Amino acid sequence: MGLARLLPRPNFRAPAKETSGNSSKQPAMGKVIAFANQKGGVAKTTTTLNLAVAFKEQGLRVLAVDLDPQGNLSMSQGLNPDSIERSMYDVLVHRLPIEEVIEEREIDLAVSSLDLAGAELALSSMIGRERALEKAVAPVKDNYNYVLIDTPPSLGILTVNALVASTSVIVPVQCEYLSLRGLVQLENTLSMIRENLNPEVEIEGILPTMYDNRTLHSREAVDILKENFGELVFETRIRKTIRYAEAPVKGSSVLAYDPTGSAAEAYRDLAKEVLNGAKAREHA
Ligand code: ADP
Ligand code: MG
Repeated sequence: MGLARLLPRPNFRAPAKETSGNSSKQPAMGKVIAFANQKGGVAKTTTTLNLAVAFKEQGLRVLAVDLDPQGNLSMSQGLNPDSIERSMYDVLVHRLPIEEVIEEREIDLAVSSLDLAGAELALSSMIGRERALEKAVAPVKDNYNYVLIDTPPSLGILTVNALVASTSVIVPVQCEYLSLRGLVQLENTLSMIRENLNPEVEIEGILPTMYDNRTLHSREAVDILKENFGELVFETRIRKTIRYAEAPVKGSSVLAYDPTGSAAEAYRDLAKEVLNGAKAREHA
């Protein structure tokens, strides 16, 4: 029996949308992508930052939103969440305009702080609690081609806000069998979001991360992903390398830290794949 039998069959894709025959080659405007997986350490934050910077290299305007109270995305751009006074907490809970918490770094970045941890509780008693982020992003999203949202390692109200605000989701998955099983829970959450809050949100793609092509285990993990999720699995694989851990210590993306290295190139490949995939769908 293959391991694949332990995973459900795919029910991941949103219903196909009507397309208007718009064949313009213009890049997307105001497209919002969440990076979600309730497992920690699968490269959500790394992918949010490096894909954002890779889009920027292509001349696109990008806003990254740090929705994780741990503030790793903010830290990886050299910001200290402990000394940040106003953050996404104030945006979500006090309706502070999001412009007021955007820092200009390699990309525009709406910052997190530790008090964002209190947002789950503060939001839980508010009417419209699932739409706080969608409302906050609405006035600025058309200033950007892409708004990329990094989420915490849970399926709590912050992640729900991200999925409600998004056009699509990228799911980074560590190339390990145990990591794959968590996708079932994420799938259930997405189904509920589609039924109740955001019928449009679809999976942009599943991204195999920390891939080590020398190990059979890594290759098998990707095989299982493909058996279960087919073309939803990106062709790009993010290899395991220490570069991804070194760059944030310097407060920079891997594209700035080691511009010609293969770690940077992997995220440039992903950027192209996302841009081409979006075009392919527009023409579908
Ligand atoms: P998450 O946001 O899902 O918790 P992170 O992006 O913070 O995950 O990554 C977890 C840790 O793994 C970080 O220390 C990061 O630098 C490191 N890392 C990310 N991607 C890779 C990779 N492809 N290879 C090796 N280490 C990685
Ligand atoms: Mg993270």
